Amino acid sequence: MIAPDKHRARKRFGQNFLHDPSIIQRIVDIINPQKQDHLIEIGPGKGALTTLMLERVTKLDVIEIDRDLVASLKTMLGNDDRLVIHEADALKLELSQFGQKDLRIVGNLPYNISTPLLFHLLTYKKCIKDMTFMLQKEVVNRICAKPGNKQYGRLTVMLQYYCEVESLFTIKPGAFNPSPKVDSAIVRLRPLKKPQHELLDHECLKIIVREAFSQRRKTIRNGLKNYISETDMKDLDIAPETRAENLEIADFVKLANRYHYLKINSL
Ligand code: SAM
Repeated sequence: MIAPDKHRARKRFGQNFLHDPSIIQRIVDIINPQKQDHLIEIGPGKGALTTLMLERVTKLDVIEIDRDLVASLKTMLGNDDRLVIHEADALKLELSQFGQKDLRIVGNLPYNISTPLLFHLLTYKKCIKDMTFMLQKEVVNRICAKPGNKQYGRLTVMLQYYCEVESLFTIKPGAFNPSPKVDSAIVRLRPLKKPQHELLDHECLKIIVREAFSQRRKTIRNGLKNYISETDMKDLDIAPETRAENLEIADFVKLANRYHYLKINSL
């Protein structure tokens, strides 16, 4: 086992460890763990957030991929029976093994896997009460963007359709060791019990959103021409000359539902 202070950060695991106590405290305060909460931390690393959260809850599962860090966490905190340490890849995690509802997921996420991880966690949205993550500030801006903004894109639409999103605060590189090259930010996502607009088929939304944003400069008339006709767009009250970044989430849902309808009727 490598002592935590001797551990050399591994780039491939996106390791930037928090060392500023006031920032660590601020993050745990914003998570606001309650005794009865079931918390799951992704990427506990050397335990910066873990140790403080553990003081407040009766159940904390942590998921860490780096076996050296798992070994030192076990030495440091392993005899605390509120904590279960899993050596696993969060991208392959079956979240439902931890329970069917009200899970609270937290983490200072490895930046290199943050987008696929968010999409992976979204598949378990019914089991999740909320997720509080530290991400690259630019990714948080994309998650929370509004239509008409150049950061508004696929990540925005897919996450905002299913979750209420909130950007909380920014953290400078100096709070980490090693320092990342970019600012970070904390975001909170709360899966909605019932999304605002009824969607017939998740896969259709994924396809429409992906295609609409695949060439941002194109109008949706061109971007979606293999999926929905101009006549259908007009019928939905959506101007075919609009660009994807100017569509509201409700418009994407209307387009996805029409695509679903056209697909099943062409079978
Ligand atoms: N939470 C610690 C902190 O704030 O100091 C460490 C944060 S560091 C940015 C990301 C952590 O996620 C590292 O401990 C890294 O080993 C772990 N990690 C990277 N990829 C992972 C994966 N696929 N599954 C689980 N943990 C992963």
